[in-house]
Amino acid sequence: MQISSQKKKTGVIAPKRFVQRVKKQNELFRSYMHQDAHEFLNFLLNELVDILEKESQAVKTPTETSSPSEKTANGPQSAQANGVHKEPLVTWVHKNFQGILTNETRCLRCETVTARDETFLDLSLDIEQNSSITSCLKNFSSTETLNAEDKFFCDKCCSLQEAQKRMKIKKPPHILVMHLKRFKYIEQLGRYKKLSYRVVFPLELKLSNTVEDADSEYSLFAVVVHVGSGPNHGHYVSLVKSHNHWLFFDDENVEMIDESAVQTFFGSAQEYSSNTDHGYILFYESLAASNKTREG
Ligand SMILES: [Zn+2]
Repeated sequence: MQISSQKKKTGVIAPKRFVQRVKKQNELFRSYMHQDAHEFLNFLLNELVDILEKESQAVKTPTETSSPSEKTANGPQSAQANGVHKEPLVTWVHKNFQGILTNETRCLRCETVTARDETFLDLSLDIEQNSSITSCLKNFSSTETLNAEDKFFCDKCCSLQEAQKRMKIKKPPHILVMHLKRFKYIEQLGRYKKLSYRVVFPLELKLSNTVEDADSEYSLFAVVVHVGSGPNHGHYVSLVKSHNHWLFFDDENVEMIDESAVQTFFGSAQEYSSNTDHGYILFYESLAASNKTREG
């Protein structure tokens, strides 16, 4: 509310009331238990959408009691208020974070391609040792063969067939949030383990293999870092780029850091390293979107 209603483009908001509100909203956050930053991000964005949708419904309620002539004049809006044709509300959360993925499945018998779209607010990427965001994204949209127990039901063949499936980004979001899956369940251990893999994330990222925009360019502006060797204990710090300077936030301590320091959070090439600070959630801003804002 404070962010959306303030007139100034920049400013400072003390997190005290925010934390109080979060604790009131969800019992999970009232204890001193450790929480996962990615789960928290999802909770926060979904909760914001819920609040914004409720607010917009509250504003729309008077239209329902308006005269019939006004309803006709309002056209699709009145239909929405009556719940006849309810289109999902596009909030600022959607405008900033929402992208569209398309799931393409090609039947290997008749070659028919079935495409199914789904929206996302962030991407969760599997990681490998000594890799980069670009290679993680490549793996994310790589072709997977559906066979044996996992065949695909082709509507044209009217039967289960072997197929090839792949995920592509159809509409890249303005803010691309990527979550590195550093906490992995290891069956032999019967518990989660933190992967300290070195995953390079560039300051400027070119998103290829998308459906529409062949060259979506992004710039890194924030990183949530997990500090610690395991999943059950640790600490979160963050790096945020503000007015062309990188700031390092560690609870109440905020300091300016050099841009080159960002690479110390890539992870380690050796499994047992003293460096336990790893980039966990990455925030990239579309350069096309930021240029528009600057021009406007
Ligand atoms: Zn088929």
